[in-house]
Amino acid sequence: TLAGKTAVVTGSNSGIGLGVARELAKAGANVVLNSFTDREEDHAIAAEIAKETGVDAKYVQADMSKGEDCRRLIEEAGVCDILINNAGIQHVAPVQDFPTEKWDAIIAINLTSAFHTIAASVSGMRERGYGRIINIASAHGLTASPYKSAYVAAKHGIVGLTKTIGLETARDPITCNAICPGYVLTPLVESQIPDTMKEYNMSREDVIEQVMLQRQPSKEFATVEQLGGTAVYLCSEAAAQVTGTTISVDGGWTAL
Ligand code: NAD
Repeated sequence: TLAGKTAVVTGSNSGIGLGVARELAKAGANVVLNSFTDREEDHAIAAEIAKETGVDAKYVQADMSKGEDCRRLIEEAGVCDILINNAGIQHVAPVQDFPTEKWDAIIAINLTSAFHTIAASVSGMRERGYGRIINIASAHGLTASPYKSAYVAAKHGIVGLTKTIGLETARDPITCNAICPGYVLTPLVESQIPDTMKEYNMSREDVIEQVMLQRQPSKEFATVEQLGGTAVYLCSEAAAQVTGTTISVDGGWTAL
C-alpha cells in the first residue's frame, strides 16, 4: 500500500491523469491534482476522491507550460514522493503547416514541464528515502506517425529524459520510468477525431477503426484504470529495480 505517500499528478482534472490519481488514491496515496484552470469543479474532483478513498486530496492550479508554475506546484504540494508527469496536449498538422505556437506549447507542456517538476522534487525524494517518477509518454515515444511532429518529438524526448533521470537516481531509492500508452479514449483523443476525419476524409467510425486502432493489434482502447494500475505497480517494492525504462500499455502496437 501507498499509505502515507503523496503523489503529485500533473494534468489530472481529466483523462489519464485523473484515472491514475484515482488508482493511486485507492492504493492509499494522498494525491495532489493539477491543471491550468482554477474552477470549482477542479477542486470538487479532489474533494470527491478524498471522500471516496479516505486519503488527503487537493487541487493546485499551475500552468505546465510555465517553468515557474511547474516548480510552484511541487512547492505547494508540500511533499512529493510520487511524481506523475502526465499533462499533455496534441496538435495534428503536416509539418509545413504546423503552427509554431503549437510546436512551442507541445514541447513546453509535454516535455519541458517534466524537467522542471523532476528538478524541483528529486532532492526531497532523496531526503525522505523514497521516490517514484513516472512520465506518461506514449507509443509515440517509441514510434512515429505522420502529422504529429511536435508530439512525437516531445514524447521521444521524455523517454530520453526518463533514461537520464534513471541513471542520475540509480544509487538512490528512487526510480524513474515512462509508461507508453497506445490509444486511450480520453478527451485528448476525442478532440483528434475531427482533424483526422478531415485529414483522411473518413467517417468517425472509420477513423477509430482504421486509423487509431489500426496500429493497436488488440483492437481495443487501453483504459485509464489500466494505466493507473501500471503506475501503482511502478510505485511498489516489486518495481524497485525497474528504472530508466519504458512500459508499454498499447495492445501490442510497438510489437508490430
Ligand atoms: P486529456 O486531454 O484528457 O488530459 C490532459 C490533461 O492535461 C488535462 O487534465 C488537462 O487539463 C491537462 N493540461 C493541458 N494543458 C495543461 C497545462 N498547460 N497545464 C496543466 N495541465 C494541462 O488527455 P489524456 O489523453 O488524458 O492525456 C494525458 C497524457 O497521456 C498526455 O501526456 C498524453 O500525451 C498521454 N497519452 C494519451 C494517450 C491517449 O490515447 N489518450 C495515448 C498516449 C499518451
